[in-house]
Amino acid sequence: MSDNNSGIALEKYSLGVGDRFAHQAKAQLAACCKAEAQGVTVAPVWNKSNREHVTVGSEPSSTRAAADAAVRELGWKHGYYVDADHINLKTVDRFLGPSNFFTLDVAESIGKPAERSVVEGFLKRHPELGGRVEIPGLEEPVELTPEKSALAASKYLFAVQDAGRIYRHIAAAKPAGDFVTEVSMDETDCPQTPSELLLILAAIADERIPIQTIAPKFTGRFNKGVDYVGDVAQFEREFASDLAVIACAIQRYSLPGNLKLSVHSGSDKFSIYAPIRRSVRRFDAGIHVKTAGTTWLEELIGLAEAGGDGLAMAKEIYAAAFDHLDELSAPYAAVIDIDAQALPAPAAVNRWSSEQYVAALRHDRKNPLFNPNFRQLLHVGYKIAAKLGDRYTAMLDACQSSISRNVTENLYERHIVPLFLSV
Ligand SMILES: [Zn+2]
Repeated sequence: MSDNNSGIALEKYSLGVGDRFAHQAKAQLAACCKAEAQGVTVAPVWNKSNREHVTVGSEPSSTRAAADAAVRELGWKHGYYVDADHINLKTVDRFLGPSNFFTLDVAESIGKPAERSVVEGFLKRHPELGGRVEIPGLEEPVELTPEKSALAASKYLFAVQDAGRIYRHIAAAKPAGDFVTEVSMDETDCPQTPSELLLILAAIADERIPIQTIAPKFTGRFNKGVDYVGDVAQFEREFASDLAVIACAIQRYSLPGNLKLSVHSGSDKFSIYAPIRRSVRRFDAGIHVKTAGTTWLEELIGLAEAGGDGLAMAKEIYAAAFDHLDELSAPYAAVIDIDAQALPAPAAVNRWSSEQYVAALRHDRKNPLFNPNFRQLLHVGYKIAAKLGDRYTAMLDACQSSISRNVTENLYERHIVPLFLSV
């Protein structure tokens, strides 16, 4: 690929900052400004999936307008992006104008068989994937055999072709190099191994997709809004292997030099931030971390902290979410773990003070009142707030000072500092 280093290149460090109700862009950008003041550029990427737009009843253009306004007001000088998150051919069109970052979601196509001639052509083009592959920085070489490669090719080639179809559809509508392309394979059952990742990247290069970020599925559970669940040491080993594979694939297949990993559902995964930071530094690699839902929870915390009508609305939202537990959880079944027995009764919550509500919701593992079940239910409960419509957004405006303080502090202290700034 020779034409893929022209156009916009995503910064080395970037943070996906979802903003479901398009009210916190400035508070989110303020966190990036604080990092900039420390000498580290973390580019904001306002990501919002089609699913979130449908749930909230919003248009991608509102995300763009909020991002542009925040950048203007705070005088942000670096790159910033509006991510059409998890789109496919059916949903991409309304994002084409407002977005300059596209996350091509091909997880559903994994395992669909590619045509036999396609698999055979790929294996012929890539004899290097039929044996042992030495990868600089990896203690053990990637062990492939012709059989293993054929198996992985038939598992992933159709999905990569699918990514190619979506990419070309976008490229037909937007000037080349005007947007960042990510390929995501995270919303699937099986994590990809380093050898599968290498093969996937070879196939992506063949499809001539100028990919800048890739979101594989990692080992362990990435539940929404709570900490990582899994073997941290194993995660660190696999994460480092993925970085080594990417560095190797960039050279071998002439992929864009800034290609990096994207961690989805990355908010609040506190126990793996140090391993991520260590690995990224060791390989001098970049990283993109998506933290979409966490800002909406900070809105609730800000409402609760404000007391009075704000607290009353935060309680009203919890009570409605409690009543619709199954309906709200269903679309997120693979990425939440709610113990319904451990949810407080709405009648009890209605008696809570601001401090009690905030303590149950804020992700402070040291606080004995923190309740991850309460937090996860509210995480998927943004549909309730969307139904409140203007009543909700008017309350956001009324409680803006406590909300924006929490939004900025959460992104900066709990995410940017441990991921990008700590030594
Ligand atoms: Zn995702």
